[in-house]
Amino acid sequence: MADTAPRPKVVKTEAEWRALLTPEQFRVTRGHGTECAFSGPHLSQKEAGTYSCVCCGEPLFHSSAKFESGTGWPSFFQPVSKDAVSAVHDHSHGMHRIEIRCATCDAHLGHVFPDGPRPTGMRFCMNGVALTFRADAVADSAASEGAGER
Ligand SMILES: [Zn+2]
Repeated sequence: MADTAPRPKVVKTEAEWRALLTPEQFRVTRGHGTECAFSGPHLSQKEAGTYSCVCCGEPLFHSSAKFESGTGWPSFFQPVSKDAVSAVHDHSHGMHRIEIRCATCDAHLGHVFPDGPRPTGMRFCMNGVALTFRADAVADSAASEGAGER
C-alpha cells in the first residue's frame, strides 16, 4: 500500500497514547489486542452515523456498511474509503490473517475476512473499543435516544 498519496500521519509516543486512551483502548489499538467477543461497544448500535478511530478521530466506517455478523464484534463490509485503513499481513497465532489498521495513526482495528455480504464480500471485523460513534445529523429524525455516545 505504497503508491497513494499519504495523508498526514498521526504519530505519538506510547506515553502520549496511554494518556489519551483507556487501558482497554490502549491494549487493543496500540498493543494489537482483541476485545472479548460481545464485550465491546457499538455491537447493537443501529443508528445512522460514522465510526471513527478512537485514537486519532479519523472517520473509518459508516453505519450504512455495518451488518450483523453474529461474531460478537462490530462488522462492516467496507470502510468509508479504501485510504482510511491499511491492510497488513498478520501471521500471529499460527494463522494468516489480514490485519486492518487506521491508515492515519496505525491503530490496530481488527481483521478483514473474505466471507462478508454483498456488495464487497468482505467482513471487516472490528474491535468496538477501537471506534467511536457519532450519529449523523439528520434533520427529519427527531430520534435523540442518545445511545452510543460516551
Ligand atoms: Zn487513527
